[in-house]
Amino acid sequence: MNQDQTIPRGMLHYGGQWQAAHGTAEIAVHSPATRVLLGHVPVADASDVAAAVDAADRAFADWRRTDALDRGRHLRALADLVRSRIGALAELESAVTGRPIREMRAQMGRIPEWLEYFGGIAAGLEGESNRVRGGLVTLTQYEPLGVCALLTPWNHPILILVKKLAAALAAGNTCVVKPSELAPVSALLFADWCREAGLPAGTVNVVTGAGATGAALCAAPAVRKIDLTGGTVTGRRVAAAAGERLVPCTLELGGKAPIIICDDVPVAEAAAGAVFAAFVAAGQTCVSATRFIVAEPVCEAFVAALRDRVAALRIGAPDDPATDIGPVISAASRDRCFDHIAAARAAGARLVQGGNALALPPALADGFYVPPTVFADVAPAMRLFREEVFGPVVAVTPFRDEAEALALANDSDFALGAAIWTRDVGRAHRLAAEVRAGVVWINDHHKNDPRSVWGGFGESGYGKENGWDALRSYMRKRSIVVRTAPAFDDWFAGGQRYG
Ligand code: NAD
Repeated sequence: MNQDQTIPRGMLHYGGQWQAAHGTAEIAVHSPATRVLLGHVPVADASDVAAAVDAADRAFADWRRTDALDRGRHLRALADLVRSRIGALAELESAVTGRPIREMRAQMGRIPEWLEYFGGIAAGLEGESNRVRGGLVTLTQYEPLGVCALLTPWNHPILILVKKLAAALAAGNTCVVKPSELAPVSALLFADWCREAGLPAGTVNVVTGAGATGAALCAAPAVRKIDLTGGTVTGRRVAAAAGERLVPCTLELGGKAPIIICDDVPVAEAAAGAVFAAFVAAGQTCVSATRFIVAEPVCEAFVAALRDRVAALRIGAPDDPATDIGPVISAASRDRCFDHIAAARAAGARLVQGGNALALPPALADGFYVPPTVFADVAPAMRLFREEVFGPVVAVTPFRDEAEALALANDSDFALGAAIWTRDVGRAHRLAAEVRAGVVWINDHHKNDPRSVWGGFGESGYGKENGWDALRSYMRKRSIVVRTAPAFDDWFAGGQRYG
């Protein structure tokens, strides 16, 4: 796939059309599986960012006044267009991210749901009105914020873009998106699809580049909200920029998800759930299962079953429908994973599966492949228990009772995803109530829906995607107080009411 043919080279997308970048700097996009050059995107400089923000700001004047029912219709038209192109989108996402085509087809199939959901609920956010003492009527009204900066990561490029975009547009905002420099192509293409679907020019604008382009966007005076999904280090920088400008900010950051496996779950089912939770996307999701906290009586049987399931995973080319595990995204990611493997070995963790460089066919020999790896006997002090690997390397730690399971699960600065596997409904709820995480699955993992709020706390950030919370986070609520009494109650002429 040559992406210089998918999108025009040297172009950004704002104001409803392709726009030549002002500078000549480019990012070369390579396949993480083969290192073959896939295409180029421009590095937007401060003047490009200013032009895109200006386009968004001008479009806001009309979009904010467009009736919510009409905004919903626009989002549904975009959903229909995306639905008709899921195959092409999945191929593009798979090629750039290295994620297996089977995963990307499944994920892309869900994208229209976010557009339809937010398009549907936008008109449902009704204000309130009260008659209060003193002959007054109070009204509360929601209004959009203005231009929103959407900063997105590389691991689910279009899913995360659409989660944010759908809520922001439904609420009446316009957006400037800055996709990850590691997977920037689909966002540019998506902006052109928005134009094709009939969204007004300037409602969706995309500038490409690395962190400096994102920082320029955060600093743009017309930007009224910043929404980032990314790493915790980036989150601190973006929060500081938002704080400096006093604009609201949503931060979806890293994680180190614990999975508590109780002794009443059949080991084969626990291993099936575990391998899905940990190794989809080669472990590169913010909620990937990374710390298996397993009841002592079943721990060794679980480790053996997990080892067998992991050993059977098919590692291969992302475009092969039979592939379970593709490469990680970059050389830096691969090196970080092997560094964690070496550190876990040196710290005395027991290597159960993987750990060593893979023998791959010649076409993939240069790819950034990391063996799916399982360590047992991982102690809480070890790096593997504490730091986000963002790759296919997991830790198993036994527990004796519920109190110890919770202490281990909650021994983390992150608080994003967690899962509990048990047949006992009371135990499931006891543990779910105490585990520190913004999303808790019981007997499942990864499942995500536009209606179900998503977001963490602690080092995992703050704010929510999905649901009414996300829509409201893209709006502000105001009061309007109306005197209906015929005469003004003149305070300085002896009036009775002051406040
Ligand atoms: P990243 O932090 O490197 O980059 C995220 C985005 O921020 C990119 O577009 C990047 O260019 C931009 N950026 C970097 N520095 C910036 C700055 N100073 N100002 C403005 N923008 C800046 O993250 P990544 O490697 O693309 O993604 C992986 C991380 O994202 C992991 O930590 C993962 O856990 C997290 N993540 C979280 C969620 C969630 O829902 N909480 C979902 C997916 C990924």
